[in-house]
Amino acid sequence: MAYLSDPKETIEILQKYHFMFQKKFGQNFLIDAHVLDKIVDAAGVTKEDVVLEIGPGIGTMTQVLCERAKEVIAVEIDKNLIPILREDTCREYDNLTIINDDILKTDVDALVRERGGRPLKVVANLPYYITTPIVMGLLERHIPVVNITVMVQREVAERMQAGPGSKDYGALSLAVQYYADTYIAAYVPQNCFMPRPNVGSAVIRLSLREKPPVEVKSEAVLFAVIRAAFAQRRKMLVNSLAGSSELACTKEQASEALAAAGLPETVRGEALTLEQFAEIADHFA
Ligand code: SAM
Repeated sequence: MAYLSDPKETIEILQKYHFMFQKKFGQNFLIDAHVLDKIVDAAGVTKEDVVLEIGPGIGTMTQVLCERAKEVIAVEIDKNLIPILREDTCREYDNLTIINDDILKTDVDALVRERGGRPLKVVANLPYYITTPIVMGLLERHIPVVNITVMVQREVAERMQAGPGSKDYGALSLAVQYYADTYIAAYVPQNCFMPRPNVGSAVIRLSLREKPPVEVKSEAVLFAVIRAAFAQRRKMLVNSLAGSSELACTKEQASEALAAAGLPETVRGEALTLEQFAEIADHFA
């Protein structure tokens, strides 16, 4: 069987099926064997694992996953790719289930339940236009997952990993780090894809925590405080909180919450740790 990580094989398949790339689906196929190995190694895929691959494309990474995992479930939105996967590039694998669906509408929890509830490993070269809804959807719905190892836009990986005081630190950093430990496994140049994307890429692994690093009375209030803090990041936190329609508090109440957490009235959200956000949130919960 021909491996698609050889760009010649990819071109052959694309020509054979007269495949037209669809920009709206974020289609940039990987054509570099080292990068494929890096992603699958970072995910730590073994013969014990059930892997969910989001957006298999023509099956470049699917082939590697099928060889290294116990089972692979691949969810692909583009119906034109399904016959390529089923009848050609991945036809030899009997441990692969291909689902033609939008991952944002797929009942991933049911897929886990049907397989006895064992947590999945999620591996993907993601369509960048929906990175955040895909990743946050998996995390917020508490889908049983060991880790999520994904290619994303470089800036997004850096935002997910950033800490207080950095320019990249924001609501996404805090939301991701509440659920997972982050590790950037590789930076990937544009020439590893066909067609070349306009942005740099990185592989990030999110290893799910058994329990969050902070305990709060209400997760909903914690995330409302975080969203308010970064809605206008140059504003003082006291004003951001008071201006939040979700929190519906007065400036006095916001000021009291900061004082109770031992913070000055002039503090900005970008300087605070998750623990400090948790203290503020508990004041409102
Ligand atoms: N895994 C392949 C690779 O690495 O060569 C393709 C990666 S490409 C960046 C993203 C893939 O996700 C495309 O195949 C695209 O059609 C698919 N996709 C886009 N939106 C999707 C969605 N909402 N649900 C499932 N798949 C989607």
